[in-house]
Amino acid sequence: MGNPKAFITIARKDAGYRPVFERVSDFGEVEQTLNREDRKLQASRCMDCGIPFCHWGCPLGNKMPEWQDLIYKGQWKEAVENLHETNNFPDFTGRICPAPCEKSCVLALHDAPVTIRENEAAVTEVAFIEGMIKAQPPKTRTGKKIAVIGSGPAGLAAAQQLNRKGHTVTIFEKDNALGGLMRYGIPNFKLNKNVIDRRLALLEEEGIIFQPNTAIGKDISGKEVMKKFDAVCIAVGAGQPRDINPEGRDLNGIYFAMDFLGQQNQLIMGEPVLDKDIISAKGKHVLVIGGGDTGSDCVGTSIRQGAVKVTQIEIMPEPPVGKNPETPWPFYPTILKTTSSHLEGCERKWSLNTNKFTGENGKVTEVLVEEVEWIKENGRISMKPTGKTEVIKADLVLLALGFIHPIHDGLLDELAVNYDARGNVAVDKESKSNVTKVFATGDAAIGASLVVRAIALGRKVAEDIHHSLIS
Ligand SMILES: Cc1cc2nc3c(=O)[nH]c(=O)nc-3n(C[C@H](O)[C@H](O)[C@H](O)COP(=O)(O)OP(=O)(O)OC[C@H]3O[C@@H](n4cnc5c(N)ncnc54)[C@H](O)[C@@H]3O)c2cc1C
Repeated sequence: MGNPKAFITIARKDAGYRPVFERVSDFGEVEQTLNREDRKLQASRCMDCGIPFCHWGCPLGNKMPEWQDLIYKGQWKEAVENLHETNNFPDFTGRICPAPCEKSCVLALHDAPVTIRENEAAVTEVAFIEGMIKAQPPKTRTGKKIAVIGSGPAGLAAAQQLNRKGHTVTIFEKDNALGGLMRYGIPNFKLNKNVIDRRLALLEEEGIIFQPNTAIGKDISGKEVMKKFDAVCIAVGAGQPRDINPEGRDLNGIYFAMDFLGQQNQLIMGEPVLDKDIISAKGKHVLVIGGGDTGSDCVGTSIRQGAVKVTQIEIMPEPPVGKNPETPWPFYPTILKTTSSHLEGCERKWSLNTNKFTGENGKVTEVLVEEVEWIKENGRISMKPTGKTEVIKADLVLLALGFIHPIHDGLLDELAVNYDARGNVAVDKESKSNVTKVFATGDAAIGASLVVRAIALGRKVAEDIHHSLIS
């Protein structure tokens, strides 16, 4: 710990976002960066606590106090090496992680935790700019072949770890480009896709084989993959969106969030989209149903496409601002989250259930919503309609209601993997499914979650597969 008093003398300084008027007319990343001197000062605020709760809060177990100190000392290479010991892709998490580490930082008790997430992004940028991050191909090969199905953060982390152990890894991806939801779900204004591409270039240089545009279970059967590989790692994500079914659900103009977000990412990448399939918010009143992060990404994307008005509704009550006694430090707090997209101009409403979609000529024009109350009884909460209704004008409705489990139809049903009670691929403590040599990881195994958890699980499944192959 370089500067024991920095947490008292130096205030937290966030890099902040680009101005709204500028950022809403492009899809560039909204977050700015501090210069290296300021970044070192921010890192110096880490108190190197006796019990580093930040380390406990991070699913990857990143060693925050160690690499904060290395940043403070300007030892960027050592800092990025330290990060890479626990995290394959700190450049991804440094941009888009909700940073449970910061929520459990001891300085969060006084609302000014160390800027751990930004520090992480900064270290990897310095390291990339200065050529410190290099491919690490294995020196020898084991002769074992592993298929990783799905190229999201879980599949990529698993592939890199397994390849570094000397196994020969092929990643199969049904989409055109690799990256999973980071590529087609998360908008560019949160994560520029060049950040994924430069990592993919390193993975390829390390010897990982990419096979995009290949849906396993459709283009190649699961059984064929099973025959050719010594182990199969299912990392297909949790792609089944949650739906609602009020009257009028079949009207045109109502889409799942991923259809909208995925298409915008495709357009930016120059992938072909037929004119008739374009979903555009331009000149529209957009209603986003679902108050979470996917909904917020729909808000920011609609604003950039030129929506007239964007409203986001949520069925749950508005969370408290600042602190929530039900989720005290060092736990991840359930509090009101205002994203960069919300700040760009969006009306947010809570405790609203969707009762009916109405339309003209087969197209949605309005949505009838009803206020609900949430009643807590015997530790359980239940929803009660209040009868207070409201009509929201909407000619584009985006359903951002989360995901229920991985898609069963196709690969998973063909392989006959067992599902857990929530419909995810059931795995034991060693990431094994019920089918011999088939493992599962990431959202496919735990349900829709976070990039940081997907990377952590990808690293774990790699360890489990490696042990099963060498024992
Ligand atoms: C809009 C949106 C925004 C998000 N924002 C954030 C955020 O800001 N921060 C954060 O931490 N998390 C965020 N998340 C969650 C995060 O993206 C996921 O938790 C994470 O990507 C899951 O990783 P994964 O590797 O398990 O699966 P995925 O990223 O879903 O990747 C699975 C891959 O498998 C491929 N696939 C599926 N079936 C097959 C098949 N049969 N054959 C071949 N390939 C197949 C898919 O095409 C996909 O590329 C967001 C999610 C969404 C939808």
